[in-house]
Amino acid sequence: MKILVTGGTGYIGSHTTLALLEAGYEVVVLDNLCNSSEAALHAVEAICAKSALLIRGDVCDRALLDRIFQEHAIDAVLHFAGLKAVGESVRKPLEYYQANVCGSITLCQAMAAAGVFRLVFSSSATVYGAPEHMPIREDFPTGTPTNPYGQSKLIIENVLHDLCAAQPRWSVALLRYFNPVGAHASGLMGEDPRGIPNNLVPYISQVAVGSLNELSIFGDDYPTVDGTGVRDYIHVVDLADGHLKALQTISGGSGINVWNLGTGDGYSVRQVVHAFEQASGRPVPYRVEPRRAGDIAECWADPSKAEQELGWTATRNLQEMMADTWRWQSSHPKGYLE
Ligand code: NAD
Ligand code: UDP
Repeated sequence: MKILVTGGTGYIGSHTTLALLEAGYEVVVLDNLCNSSEAALHAVEAICAKSALLIRGDVCDRALLDRIFQEHAIDAVLHFAGLKAVGESVRKPLEYYQANVCGSITLCQAMAAAGVFRLVFSSSATVYGAPEHMPIREDFPTGTPTNPYGQSKLIIENVLHDLCAAQPRWSVALLRYFNPVGAHASGLMGEDPRGIPNNLVPYISQVAVGSLNELSIFGDDYPTVDGTGVRDYIHVVDLADGHLKALQTISGGSGINVWNLGTGDGYSVRQVVHAFEQASGRPVPYRVEPRRAGDIAECWADPSKAEQELGWTATRNLQEMMADTWRWQSSHPKGYLE
């Protein structure tokens, strides 16, 4: 089977491309490289001795998409391409809605024109807003995202729901990721954020490697185990595996399915810092700062629906997530540039 992976040079897309190639799929990657490097695919090739075809271009480019579907017998699409920085989305809403919402709609239009109706979409736990109870199940109502990034994910989910209701030929998976972290165990590929990282684990690892001075912990007065925010961190290789399971499952069905991809365990910021210090053997100096606007106290998944329906469960624990992050970061202090 041949799979189109949009955003396939990015953090999650590259790990999923590797998993697809290892499982025997052919892969065509479409990426405009606005937040990634072609080097990610060289690492994929070094690990599995197979390669994906990279097409540089924009997911909003309908003519390019039409050409890709004409030239390749694509069976399904994994759609990772999009912009993901929450703060930037507040400053540049049009860019975010254009890339994320218009990009997804253009992709679906090109798929329909080519007769391709299987789609796996990268959604996020952000669509739940601030639920009253944990763990979060897929049947919890969606909330009101507080920023254009979150809004864009919810809008795309709603578009895909309407599409599947109108046209039963579609078979769509909405995968709601919790907090993807970690790196491939080889140390050859990992997360390579441009500029100063927004997310906790890349920030911690850049402090540990000496690129940043200290971590700011955003709030220690939440009603949690130690006052710091609690999240469900999931290893990116487990996440990639979840995509393969979702792809296999939707290939035999139709309609829309929503699955949480998380571990079911929540860890506080301080617990993550401690685990990282243990894995790296390096201190992570930090200072407590006020809460970050828009953050919720805690967020973790009930992953049982994915376990029952996909036969998927995350297997890597927090120690492995931190050890793999450190292996990548310490051998590539400047990411793919080194
Ligand atoms: P990433 O930035 O590493 O990967 C996204 C890729 O899409 C990049 O390679 C980028 O160059 C490409 N891209 C962006 N806009 C494009 C466009 N218009 N046309 C073609 N390519 C384009 O991000 P990631 O962490 O791998 O995230 C992948 C997907 O998962 C995104 O849709 C993101 O919103 C979603 N997601 C990520 C997280 C997370 O914490 N990393 C959590 C939930 C959901
Ligand atoms: N966080 C922090 N300092 C940072 C980045 C994040 O204290 O530099 C906290 C944040 O407040 C949250 C947790 O770490 O409680 C995870 O944040 P991240 O941005 O990684 O993911 P989110 O769940 O917000 O998408």
